[in-house]
Amino acid sequence: MSETKYHIPLSSPDITEREIEAVVEVMKSGTLSLGPKLPEFEKAIADYAGIKHAVAVNSGTSGLHLCVRALGLKPGDEVITTSFSFIASANCVIFEGAKPVFIDIDPVDMNFNIDQIEGAITEKTKAIVAVHAFGMPVDMVRVMEVARKHNLAVIEDACEAIGAMIKDGNEWKMAGTFGDCALYAFYPNKQITTGEGGIIITDNDEIARLCVSMRNQGRDAGMGWLAHARLGYNYRLSDMSCALGTVQVSRLGEILPKRAEVAARYTKLFEEELPEVVLPCPDPENLKRSWFVYVIQLPKQYSGDQRNALITHLRGIGIGCNQYFSPIHLQPFYVREYGWKRGDLPVTEYMGDHSMSIPFFNKLSLEDQKIVVSEIKKWLKENPA
Ligand SMILES: *Cc1c(COP(=O)(O)O)cnc(C)c1O
Repeated sequence: MSETKYHIPLSSPDITEREIEAVVEVMKSGTLSLGPKLPEFEKAIADYAGIKHAVAVNSGTSGLHLCVRALGLKPGDEVITTSFSFIASANCVIFEGAKPVFIDIDPVDMNFNIDQIEGAITEKTKAIVAVHAFGMPVDMVRVMEVARKHNLAVIEDACEAIGAMIKDGNEWKMAGTFGDCALYAFYPNKQITTGEGGIIITDNDEIARLCVSMRNQGRDAGMGWLAHARLGYNYRLSDMSCALGTVQVSRLGEILPKRAEVAARYTKLFEEELPEVVLPCPDPENLKRSWFVYVIQLPKQYSGDQRNALITHLRGIGIGCNQYFSPIHLQPFYVREYGWKRGDLPVTEYMGDHSMSIPFFNKLSLEDQKIVVSEIKKWLKENPA
């Protein structure tokens, strides 16, 4: 037991007796992989998203990789995406030898700046990876317009955005249902979890068929266990994870509003106690966020080093927090391989220096939220910029 003053984690999964019973039932059944829980989970997700196919895999990263392969991206191809994301949304392109090309982000919603897509298109551009960062959806109606005009494939990285909605004309649709294919992910810090896991969603029969085959060593439907039609992987998700996921999906209607409530409490507390801190933007009228993390920005006079010092201090007293995100283009191997440098993406770098995520999960109590806000307030007072 550590001796910190508080014990407030950054995130915490919401697991009930129902999830525990569902997993135990699988373990007692003797069928731990490729059993009945896999199609059950896939159907639950497809129904939730309102889409034809869902293909469960063992992580969001492996699902992104399969999407990149299913779309046929290859060495020499360029893919436009954001640097203000989790590393996997850019790495998946590199897995196949293609090159991620970063555009800057919008300072308000922190997603890639749609106005910059066309300027980044070259004759090598083949696809766009749109990341719905922090659960705030990208306006996919506008992205798809650009993509259709230039004949580009679109992958939606909705790993942080299950349940986020985008208005298309008069209709609200799920984030992840606009591009050729999309990913939801289920690591334990996400809105819902399968322990480890992810799921590809698509309306495209061929993409779904290829992903089903590639996640299972390149086997095709009807082929024997040792017959392999194409290069494949072991990206399968176990039946324990699928059973856990099916119960979690059924609880999204309860989980997502609770997360929104916790976010609203933070917003109120910060507005009252610390108006100089910049808060997540409110939803514009055509987008509905699914709360994944609560990310604040320190006032602009603070440096990245000071933000890091605050994170170290909060962790030291038992309050979970993190830099969120650390720009991908400044990661050592991107600098080495592609020559990216500071100054290339000013808005992304500004957010990388000023933003941080603070404890956020369904069951976070108002009491703990008050502690988080007052400890940040105290530190800022004692450490002026
Ligand atoms: C979580 C996440 C992923 C996938 O992560 P895994 O750990 O591989 O499941 C991909 N992209 C983004 C933006 C994420 O937040």
